[in-house]
Amino acid sequence: MLPYGRHYLDEEDIASVVEVLRGDFITQGPKIAAFEKALACYCGARYAVAFNSGTSALHAAYFAAGLSQGDEFICPALTFCATANAGVFLGARPIFADSEEDTGNIDPEQIESLITPRTKLVVPMHYAGHPADLEKIWRVAQRYGLKIVEDACHALGAEYRGAKIGSCQYSDMTVFSFHPVKHITTGEGGAVLTNSAEYYEKLLMFRNHGLTKDPNKFRHEPDGPWCYEMQFLGWNYRMTDFQAALGLSQLKKLDRFLARRRAIVTEYNKFFARFFLFDLPIEKGDVRSAWHLYVVRLGKDLVPVKRKIFETLKGRGLGVQVHYIPVYWHPFYQDLGYEPGLCPRAEEFYRRALSLPLFPAMTESEVNQVKDTVAEVFTEVAA
Ligand SMILES: *Cc1c(COP(=O)(O)O)cnc(C)c1O
Repeated sequence: MLPYGRHYLDEEDIASVVEVLRGDFITQGPKIAAFEKALACYCGARYAVAFNSGTSALHAAYFAAGLSQGDEFICPALTFCATANAGVFLGARPIFADSEEDTGNIDPEQIESLITPRTKLVVPMHYAGHPADLEKIWRVAQRYGLKIVEDACHALGAEYRGAKIGSCQYSDMTVFSFHPVKHITTGEGGAVLTNSAEYYEKLLMFRNHGLTKDPNKFRHEPDGPWCYEMQFLGWNYRMTDFQAALGLSQLKKLDRFLARRRAIVTEYNKFFARFFLFDLPIEKGDVRSAWHLYVVRLGKDLVPVKRKIFETLKGRGLGVQVHYIPVYWHPFYQDLGYEPGLCPRAEEFYRRALSLPLFPAMTESEVNQVKDTVAEVFTEVAA
């Protein structure tokens, strides 16, 4: 089965991990700081803090932004559930925003109407790697004094108006994931990028139980030179040093990965352009997508047979997937009182969406297999 996404590892990656395993530090050693520095440098941000997952990185970013019990935050309905869950961890309530019909991104025009006196934070998620309209969102957020955290788990290497996503030009913090289906992998892992020293300090402490060893920050008179203080409730969200070594090695290949993804997308677009059974993904405005996913949108008359298309494609070896079930459709959120119908365009996008295999390690014959199988199956089902 050809999956919709998968990692690429070479001998250099493996050697970088083994080297750390043979050394003195297998967690919180020098590779963490080196990976953070390289990542911040790549994206054009001042600071990066590595975490043990994208989800824990989101949790930390929302915490550092000041989100807490009783607050509201605005996030898209069309996203992975972790975008919303990370705020629920802090006792906050997600307010789901609807999607743009073409990109699937949060609709910047709708955000203002969702703001209440409790709103603290807006979380754009760059769906499939296509940057959301950050400047528009930034302008609304500025007017109401809201913070912005980008969920950029799909968008490492993407660009918005000539700057890399992660530069935080129009946000307070940006979150990445290094799960194996994402652009680079550390097995499990994530990071928060920021230009603020204050957020940076908070993120470091949140990752390590809320502890500080800096005597200048102590609230109590220290008992002795062994002292450290726990100043707020943090977690153990640390990445290991061998994961950071893998991340560093993978980061060197990121531009090649991005170029390969783009080349496959160009090939798909060219081939599927003469198909009128689905809409192709687009790149809109002054952006460069990181092409995390290749999501086609079925024509309305094919929506009723999507299950059959999905099953037939799987039966013929294509590991297709659907991104995403609107978050508030999940039983957990229904139990909290969210009703179906809340975000009609996100629901319609979900009904039409189908993700085809796209990852840098795909061979030319696998790309052809996708093109031929999709053409074959859609022609059969539509007939
Ligand atoms: C992958 C992903 C996450 C979570 O990242 P993990 O590393 O799996 O915890 C969060 N949000 C989005 C949009 C993602 O795609």
